[in-house]
Amino acid sequence: MQTNFTAEQLADPHVATSEQILRKCVHCGFCTATCPTYVTLGNELDSPRGRIYLIKDMLENGRPADEQVVTHIDRCLSCLSCMTTCPSGVDYMHLVDHARMHIENTYRRPFWDRVTRNLLAAVLPYPRRFRLALHAAALGRPFAGLLKRVKGMEPFGAMLDLAPRHVPKRSSSARPGTHPAAGTKRGRVAILSGCAQPVLKPEINEATIRLLTRLGVEVVAPAGEVCCGSLVHHMGREEQALEAARRNVDVWLREMENGGLDAIIVTASGCGTTIKDYGFMLRLDPAYAEKAAKVSALARDVTEYLATLDLPPQETKRLTVAYHSACSMQHGQKITTLPKTLLKNAGFTVRDPAEGHLCCGSAGTYNILQPEISAKLKARKVKNLEATRPDVIATGNIGCITQIATGTEVPILHTVELLDWAYGGEKPAGLA
Ligand code: SF4
Ligand code: SF4
Repeated sequence: MQTNFTAEQLADPHVATSEQILRKCVHCGFCTATCPTYVTLGNELDSPRGRIYLIKDMLENGRPADEQVVTHIDRCLSCLSCMTTCPSGVDYMHLVDHARMHIENTYRRPFWDRVTRNLLAAVLPYPRRFRLALHAAALGRPFAGLLKRVKGMEPFGAMLDLAPRHVPKRSSSARPGTHPAAGTKRGRVAILSGCAQPVLKPEINEATIRLLTRLGVEVVAPAGEVCCGSLVHHMGREEQALEAARRNVDVWLREMENGGLDAIIVTASGCGTTIKDYGFMLRLDPAYAEKAAKVSALARDVTEYLATLDLPPQETKRLTVAYHSACSMQHGQKITTLPKTLLKNAGFTVRDPAEGHLCCGSAGTYNILQPEISAKLKARKVKNLEATRPDVIATGNIGCITQIATGTEVPILHTVELLDWAYGGEKPAGLA
């Protein structure tokens, strides 16, 4: 695609990067067919190609974001399905990240939208605040239906709907510390404790720690780690996201220097996609660019790391698993077959749902900020998953677990909970 930026505009490194991305797009439109918002809404402006035109026009003209651009960029899930489909290698992820930053810096959102976003950014990345908010949500739940009918208040209704009825107790897996390897030590890894996940489902990191230590890997949960920054990054709040990234880079580098690390294990693929992008996010910070690239190179989804441990095949179990590949797993990190191979090897029957490339509508805070589109995508996803007649659904991202669980009676677990069970751990409570 031809672009028309001035030399002055290109002096801004963000614009220069976006220009390179825009030039790769050949307008072919292949990406529209696999874009969940285009498939749902049928509007070209809600397709990747339409959004690329909107972003190009806004950036080339050096314009502040307007309501039209904000509407269509806000509706984008950042699912990155378009990147998997694109034959020209258009880096839509970094383009839309830039657009979101530009929106945040140049557009004043309506009052309730600002309140909602400020609240999410101030609560979700902080486990203590998030836990308190979930307890408060239990009191507010009866008003969810009412809130969903009041214009501007729909996100608050969606938040109440998503909040679990029961908030799990604090888990020791969320505290800093070292979990020694059982038997001969064959590795040492750091585990990302995360922000929302340890509050909503501490079983995931508990299962990971149990499984890895049983396999001879020392697992350290370093002190000082914070949310990976992905939630605010996707809201365009770049400084807040970069600050989180810098803190984590410092923490993990200290751990690398002190005890050595084979990997940084991430059990939420949404966070994994962001941590693997720290090198890019901090590329313009001379003090952190190199360190961040080192951290990104060491980040592994838990299934990627498990695949290096040569787990022995297990006896066949009478359990059919529908595998839901999170967008951040399949499109963001390009991890597609690995989790399924591990599950099959562990004795489970694994089934792929139809339209596996389409997002479930969770997408970070999307299910709160865009509840209508999100609900449609959830219903479509649940229908496809249930059509495989599974005993259980497995996935590798807490956002998808929370989203899909509100639409089906089929239990949904993290892949690692099933693997821990298959290799000598407890039966997951979710299967009881
Ligand atoms: S990231 Fe997903 S929702 Fe956004 S344009 Fe690409 S395919 Fe569509
Ligand atoms: S598939 Fe790629 S090249 Fe084609 S319109 Fe979409 S982003 Fe552009």
